[in-house]
Amino acid sequence: MKSRQKLRQGIILSSFFLFPALFYYLSPVMIIQATQGGIINGSFILFLLLFLSALLLGRAYCGWVCPGAGCQEALFSAREKRVLKGDSIKWLIWIPWVGTIVILAIIGGGYSQVDFFYQTHYGFSIGDLPALIAYLVVLLLIVLPSFIFGKRSFCHHLCWMAPFMIIGRKIRNLFHWASLRLQAEPEKCTHCHTCTENCPMSLPVETMVHQDRMENSECILCGTCIDGCPSDVIQYAFRIESQ
Ligand code: SF4
Ligand code: SF4
Repeated sequence: MKSRQKLRQGIILSSFFLFPALFYYLSPVMIIQATQGGIINGSFILFLLLFLSALLLGRAYCGWVCPGAGCQEALFSAREKRVLKGDSIKWLIWIPWVGTIVILAIIGGGYSQVDFFYQTHYGFSIGDLPALIAYLVVLLLIVLPSFIFGKRSFCHHLCWMAPFMIIGRKIRNLFHWASLRLQAEPEKCTHCHTCTENCPMSLPVETMVHQDRMENSECILCGTCIDGCPSDVIQYAFRIESQ
């Protein structure tokens, strides 16, 4: 494994070990509770930052930072099944959830206060038994689909954060902004299938290379395909999408 992938896996595993401290800042429930009180909480701010980051970095957060990525990738050796369908399921969760937040904000007369540490215990998410139980439920929700449906199933099917970044990169593509992407040199490819087999998001990377279309809303810019390719076909690039 190349040192860049060791670094990436070290970061997402460390992030996972910090998850008990962090999970209120990623919580889809805390933002609803805070909105009812007219409060902009930590998860509101984080979701906004994820959207903004996607304008420049796509879904690099999912590949390089997310605590949920660490525990899912740790399971790859136990369950390597590829996930080939169901990416739209997460929108069935995201749309009603965001709709609920918007309606609650309108009914409550908007936001009047910012409290980044809302409901945390000195900034730490788990401070009592209900918080511990909530954490374990969230953990199960992330880990179990990976066991049943395959690699990073939670990212494909359930993640409430991914749509913020998918929308961010769609806007970026619409306005042709330069950003972090993959680029390929198809003529160098030796058809070894390594990139497709190893992609943690089960994307058809070899086909993407041959079509010279490396943009995919489920690509998390993890660089596994870059670092695993024996012919150096794929690279990171900071540029606008090729037409
Ligand atoms: S296409 Fe490459 S960078 Fe994108 S998710 Fe797959 S392995 Fe990672
Ligand atoms: S790993 Fe590289 S050489 Fe192998 S199929 Fe993918 S792009 Fe082609």
